[in-house]
Amino acid sequence: MIAKCPLYINGQFMETAEKQNITNPSTGKVIAEVSLASAAELELALSSAREAFDQGPWPQFSLAERKEFIFRIARGISDNAGILAELETQNSGKPIKETTFMDVPSSVKTFEFMADNFMNYLNNEDIDVSSDAKARIIREPMGVVVLIVPWNYPLLIACWKLASALAAGNTVILKPSSLTPLTALELARIIQQAGLPKGAVNIINGSGAKIGETLCADKRVDMISFTGSNEIGKQILQYSSKNVKKVIMELGGKSASLIFNDVDLEVAVNSSLASIFLNQGQMCTAMSRIFVQEGIYDKFLSSFTKKAKLIKLGLADNHETQMGPLISDAQRKKVIAYVEKAKAEGAKVVCGGKIPENAELKNGYFFEPTVLVDVGAHSHIFKEEVFGPVVLLHKFSGSDEAANLANSVDFGLAACIWSKDLFQAQELAGKLNAGTVWINTYGMFYNALPYGGFKQSGFGKELGREGFLEYVRFKNVIIDQSAEGKPLVNYWYGF
Ligand code: NAD
Repeated sequence: MIAKCPLYINGQFMETAEKQNITNPSTGKVIAEVSLASAAELELALSSAREAFDQGPWPQFSLAERKEFIFRIARGISDNAGILAELETQNSGKPIKETTFMDVPSSVKTFEFMADNFMNYLNNEDIDVSSDAKARIIREPMGVVVLIVPWNYPLLIACWKLASALAAGNTVILKPSSLTPLTALELARIIQQAGLPKGAVNIINGSGAKIGETLCADKRVDMISFTGSNEIGKQILQYSSKNVKKVIMELGGKSASLIFNDVDLEVAVNSSLASIFLNQGQMCTAMSRIFVQEGIYDKFLSSFTKKAKLIKLGLADNHETQMGPLISDAQRKKVIAYVEKAKAEGAKVVCGGKIPENAELKNGYFFEPTVLVDVGAHSHIFKEEVFGPVVLLHKFSGSDEAANLANSVDFGLAACIWSKDLFQAQELAGKLNAGTVWINTYGMFYNALPYGGFKQSGFGKELGREGFLEYVRFKNVIIDQSAEGKPLVNYWYGF
């Protein structure tokens, strides 16, 4: 039976006239029918979020009360971990091992972390400005925040944004990707059961092209937190400029891994495979360019390619599967077009580069792990985000050249350095234009650390104190303390 997924507005689930089928990318089969918001539901979500903020009770709850709600959401996700992992796998094509051991537990931890820490981040500050005045910086919620989430980590990225936005006291409208709304709608059930007041969280579904502009331009929205592609990010910046509001942007990447001669080859190869082929390469921080120092380049390439060929492609719900399908046929076509263009520009495919022939996978959107060599630094694939299981390997001789290669693209999201020389590695980290640099590891995200990119990878942070404070506005309150007890302006006019 096909599941029906309503919208969640003002504390109620609602079916709408317009629907969209949701397919399982492993099989191409329809698995759910999701209600789409029309102009009327969009208006309802905007007015509900605004009213819930202006009239409360969510922003007026004590911090201790808010903390309890945030914990309840964490517990709700944890209690429904199995269902959420299955839904995410069916909807996004992520292997069940990844959703079970990464996406869902990380979502729980994000809410737990925020519940444990946000009160410290909200401490108002007294500032010593002058002997004539007492000044205090007050931290308040932004107001109504729109959260727009991509399809590659539908639950986890929704939780990153929701945990901070809610803990700060905002009311929210969450818009999942039209391709992957199922876990967000399950989250709506969890939030309702946690007893959050109506209107504090609204979850609406709809094509960005149809509802994005109204949602993002509306004056009742105080802030937009967007994660997605650069193309859509730029559109959202335009919408938001119609009525001034805060925007944070987590955009694409073309990250580089720099591998030095002195590494433990096996560890570096295994981790580098994960750094590009996890989630089928559909990761903003995918290390899609691997630069290897010339002394070990041949050995690294041979081992990397041999192991890439052994990665087990399969249906995403199979626990043995190491790589599932891409999110859609359109995404697979985009990936294929990039590989073909790279070949036309002189690249050589040493692994993959095609749709697998396995009959069991023929209805899904699978693509083999693909390794390219001989890729010129001016070719499209060297500079542009593919968002699929395609990596290029390239040689370098010294540290400066490695830094130049890594920094030679428009993005600045993440980088990896592999070396036993930690002094050199840290010095090099300082030269890289990337918001996160991992040394001898990959993909370690910590809730305490602010995450976000530089350059065309966006601005603003998620997670940590700094990520939380994105959802907070700062107000100065200044009290006159002058001996005469008169405000300065009185002297100015001489009244
Ligand atoms: P996308 O830009 O196509 O969509 C992102 C979200 O925007 C979706 O919810 C979509 O429905 C919505 N949207 C689309 N058009 C819109 C419009 N006109 N107005 C408002 N909303 C609109 O991105 P995607 O394909 O879902 O995700 C892949 C991209 O996300 C990649 O570029 C990837 O690098 C990026 N990403 C970045 C990070 C990060 O932290 N920097 C994390 C994950 C993904």
